[in-house]
Amino acid sequence: MLRSIKGIGPKKQELLNKIGIYDKEDLLNLMPIRYQDKRNISTVQEAFSLDEAVLRLKIIAKGRSIRLRGRKTITKLIATDGNEEINIIYFNDFYTPAGLVIGSDYYFFGKVGREKNEYFIYNPETSIIDDNFLSLDPIYPLTKGLGQKEMKKFVLEALKSTVIDPIPKDILANRKLIPIKTAHMNIHCPKSYEEINAAKYRLFYQETFILLTALNYLRYINDFDKKGPINRQNNIVEYFLDSLEFQLTEDQIKVVSEIISDMKSDKPMNRLLQGDVGSGKTIVALAAGVFSTANGHQTAFIAPTEVVANQHFKNHKHLLDELGFKSEILTGSTKAAQKDYIKKKLLAGDIDFIFGTHALIQEDVKFRDLGLVIADEQHKFGVKQRSQLISKGDNPDVLVMSATPIPRTLSLALYGDLNISSIKTKPKGRKKIITYALNKDYEKRIFRFIERQVLEGHQVYIVCPAIEKNEEIRLDTVYDIYERLSKASDIKSEVLHSRLKKEEKDAIIDDFKENRISVLISTTVIEVGVDVPNSSLIVIYNAERFGLSQIHQLRGRVGRGDVQSYCILICSSNSASARERMRIICENDDGYEIADRDLKMRGVGEILGSMQHGASIFDIDRFDGYENIIDIANEDVKYLMTEDPKLESPMNSELNRIVNSKIDNLINANSLN
Ligand code: ADP
Ligand code: MG
Repeated sequence: MLRSIKGIGPKKQELLNKIGIYDKEDLLNLMPIRYQDKRNISTVQEAFSLDEAVLRLKIIAKGRSIRLRGRKTITKLIATDGNEEINIIYFNDFYTPAGLVIGSDYYFFGKVGREKNEYFIYNPETSIIDDNFLSLDPIYPLTKGLGQKEMKKFVLEALKSTVIDPIPKDILANRKLIPIKTAHMNIHCPKSYEEINAAKYRLFYQETFILLTALNYLRYINDFDKKGPINRQNNIVEYFLDSLEFQLTEDQIKVVSEIISDMKSDKPMNRLLQGDVGSGKTIVALAAGVFSTANGHQTAFIAPTEVVANQHFKNHKHLLDELGFKSEILTGSTKAAQKDYIKKKLLAGDIDFIFGTHALIQEDVKFRDLGLVIADEQHKFGVKQRSQLISKGDNPDVLVMSATPIPRTLSLALYGDLNISSIKTKPKGRKKIITYALNKDYEKRIFRFIERQVLEGHQVYIVCPAIEKNEEIRLDTVYDIYERLSKASDIKSEVLHSRLKKEEKDAIIDDFKENRISVLISTTVIEVGVDVPNSSLIVIYNAERFGLSQIHQLRGRVGRGDVQSYCILICSSNSASARERMRIICENDDGYEIADRDLKMRGVGEILGSMQHGASIFDIDRFDGYENIIDIANEDVKYLMTEDPKLESPMNSELNRIVNSKIDNLINANSLN
């Protein structure tokens, strides 16, 4: 379909696919990241106070091009707006327009700066005097190999074709939506921001409507009479929960019973368990596993990292042993002989409970009767990996866990028709983690604070983003910090990162758990799931490089026991947005609130980085005020589904076509990564 557009060959098609554009509709619905407002002409002086501006300038002199090493050139022009002179500098032939004539006027667009009392503009976009230049100019998301101009050309080509409105007429009228053709024109060739907004609303509605229709349609034609595993036996779960050292919180009890009632029904469970870090999701999942195992099925518990998989195994093996359930662990670094042994046992049904990592998916692991799949920290898994694991059983129950709440629509988009259980309150006795943001000048004092925590018998995490020195981005590495800390103090610390051998990693984590190491200096390998309740402080270097939700996850490594815990963010950026982000983290300890702010600051696409929807309308950070669209579209889809669930009516033929291609694309996208 894309290939029918002028200029798109196989290579460009592949690049477009990469950012989520599979057909003409995707291209037409492609939401610009932003618009360059080139409608007004500024003087040099006015432009100096703006981020970007259009200037109309007469060229009065032309310097000679200077050729630098590496085929680079610098071309300098001097121009005037009638009042002020300005230097126009083009670095590189690529930017230097050909044929500019002294004495003629041109439009220039860019940022005006001033150095030593002279105005400069670098690599401005340059045009002859043409009113078409003075527009609201869309800037599209791109990928390497795809240029802005090229993308514009493709979109304009696509705009020439006829488009049939996929939304049923009565719904269009009822919701007063603008026609699709108008929406496309308004998005790509807008005259005003009002036009853009009306079009965005319409396209956002449409994307939501089609997605929801696709999901409902899929469910209707596929899942209609799918049968899940049979589970009846119940009291073992109570017995198991009674055997724990602690009592479940009210929320935990509630979600356990939600899960069990799902598992008792004939349909396979498809449930997301949301709960902030430290809210105690693991034990809930384990209870589900115990229930499944007691009913004769096998359970697979897949964790995002080896560290977490090992920890889950170690923490829970004895509990399962007591019930007479056999458990094992399988990860990428399990020895070949042991792997073979485990695979054989799984197939024979001699293992009830298997913990592991992606290795559980990648290896040719087969089960005798896989009844339940548990995925910890689900956002680290692609949809495809999840479905691969599921396909190892016969419609097993599925429980995915996440500490990063995602908006309902997005979870729908990612995981289909999913039920959600939430743990909102944490186990009793937890204190708020006191959080500070400081700059690196405070390192000595931070080291002393670390020492004090250790003297009090507690343990400390230090997290930093880099393992090795990198000339371009000069960051402290784990080893730099190790060295400085060792010089400043003789408390026992160790370095942990993903490039260490498995044995080394295991030994270090073991030592940390047993408090033979006081300070663990680590990369984000500890981000999810590491559980050492005795740790009371986490220090995060270059905190500005982490997303808010990620910092919150990291911070969740402390505050797991009842000691007062601290988090120190070392922020090496002075930008307003970095400061704002630090402030949000310091002031908030609610993961939902933080995720929400993160969403608003960074956009949805970036948070769900692994998602294939590079070009989705969900990526834009103008989520505000659009929430009700989801409810409206949902209502409309319900109505449509009662009228025409299989989309057979000729009136809905375009919708049928788009929905089917959407489903194909979703499936294809997910089998690529
Ligand atoms: P997360 O939801 O982040 O995965 P965990 O399941 O790792 O959290 O639980 C965090 C810690 O809280 C663990 O040490 C766990 O044993 C403990 N825990 C879980 N539930 C309770 C409870 N009801 N009372 C006390 N401690 C609990
Ligand atoms: Mg966890």
